[in-house]
Amino acid sequence: MADTPSIKTIGIVGAGTMGAGIALACLYADYQVILQDPFPEVLEKASDYIKKFLDKKEQGGKFKHLTLTEKLEDMAPTQVVIEAALEQLELKVDVFSRLDEICPPPAILATNTSTLSVTQVAAATQHPGRVAGMHFFNPAPVLPLVEVVQAAQSSDETIQTLKELAEALGKVPVVTGDTPGFIVNRVARPFYAEALRLLGEGVASHNYIDMIVERGGGFRMGPYKLMDLIGIDINAGAMRSMYEQTHGEPRYRPHPLQMQKLQEGALGRKTGRGFYDYAEAIDEPKVRERKPAGGAGPLVISEGSWAPGLENLAYQAGYTVSSVPDPEEPPAACFVVAGRAEEAPSLLSWYDQSLPPHVPIIAQCADMALSEMAAWVQHPERVIGFDGLFLGNGDVATLVLTPAFNDDLIPAVELAIRSLGREAVWIAEGPAAVLPRIVAQLVNEAAFAVLEGVADAETVDTAMKLGVNYPQGPLEWGLQLGYDKVLTVLEHLYAEYREERYRPCVLLRRWARQAAS
Ligand code: NAD
Repeated sequence: MADTPSIKTIGIVGAGTMGAGIALACLYADYQVILQDPFPEVLEKASDYIKKFLDKKEQGGKFKHLTLTEKLEDMAPTQVVIEAALEQLELKVDVFSRLDEICPPPAILATNTSTLSVTQVAAATQHPGRVAGMHFFNPAPVLPLVEVVQAAQSSDETIQTLKELAEALGKVPVVTGDTPGFIVNRVARPFYAEALRLLGEGVASHNYIDMIVERGGGFRMGPYKLMDLIGIDINAGAMRSMYEQTHGEPRYRPHPLQMQKLQEGALGRKTGRGFYDYAEAIDEPKVRERKPAGGAGPLVISEGSWAPGLENLAYQAGYTVSSVPDPEEPPAACFVVAGRAEEAPSLLSWYDQSLPPHVPIIAQCADMALSEMAAWVQHPERVIGFDGLFLGNGDVATLVLTPAFNDDLIPAVELAIRSLGREAVWIAEGPAAVLPRIVAQLVNEAAFAVLEGVADAETVDTAMKLGVNYPQGPLEWGLQLGYDKVLTVLEHLYAEYREERYRPCVLLRRWARQAAS
């Protein structure tokens, strides 16, 4: 593997999860590594982990390139130090002011902090130009992304050297500004924050939210499984740190459910219990047996653009599709997917009057309040909501119940959904359901990051795909769904909650206008 000129020995401060992982990545790439931690038992554990994985990859011979030490002074022979100690500003400031003396320039000092200000850490040194962030993702030997964080004082040479070092480690570096959470931890915030609100407001349970996000959105892991994997303490700490550093940006406000888990000591996989209980088989929602698609007869689908792919699914299933009901032959169901919110009341009441009362009306509600829609019809007991925006993705359909809905119609709705090749997942009413809400806020957060100069759109998308394995970048998603639609979802959320947290970014408004013109 290519070496970065002049870097032979890399120092790593802190031998916990990240320090040990980064050390392993450096050993794989043939560097000498000096790994420091004040606690001998931590060093021993890290050493066992590194040896095991080197052996597994048949690279056991590289173990001799690892030196373990409890003393920071032993970092003197290194050309680059990557600090991965605890996420505490005072601790990092102290470590960097000591490293500044132990490792004179031109050695480079990097911090793996997830959320702290690299600029503030650099200010603790006499030579802040050689300080920058080098943010790996967990597990560091596996995940390809490294955010190289340009602090206010970081020199271009420092950034260039760290980029080359990341490449020499087989990683993909992206350069980001030094703003709270950098790219990935910042743009990913709504993934957790909106999921926590959905649970807190009783819209769906944690495992159903995960199921919708995974199977409907194509995410490798739902927000609850991911929080449990990361550690609820780490995740909540990142949220709290970002909230404090931004002087109370409402999008980053920590959620009481996270705090309750911390108080309970249920921190996720590492304590055996978080949102899921790992002592038992993980409580995946039951998936009913899939019947083969077999939609015979008519299906009514209104005109409108809010359920891309629905008509195709209906044709493929064998339905006769029409936007006008045939009085002689009532349809299995009627989907109302109004193109514009203003059209919805008249469309709904017209279908309500035209169809016999046993025909369920399945109304697209990613951008409208279902209870309001139900009030526009004479038979609210046959109106349920569905998320049209994500129906074309994955293999689940999110269906939204109102308390007025007549349960006797559930089998007919489920049959219609199943015949379209989708599994019905029922949730309670909440603005913008699950995926439209989470994804619109991800797109919004990405737009804010671009607006504020953290990175350009392409870099943000790359970072999210490589850093947290998103199936596509948030801005690619914005394009696919349509920025105008994303904006409409955000405005719906804003109108319902009247919280600044859902204010659409001005850049997103601009993109939506461009898309419309
Ligand atoms: P960890 O708790 O597993 O490890 C931290 C280590 O620092 C511990 O082994 C501890 O003994 C050691 N330590 C404590 N005081 C020290 C000192 N004075 N000098 C040197 N070492 C000291 O934590 P972690 O998850 O490995 O996180 C380390 C850093 O990496 C944090 O800044 C964190 O924000 C960042 N990070 C974490 C993740 C993650 O997913 N865990 C991902 C990216 C970045």
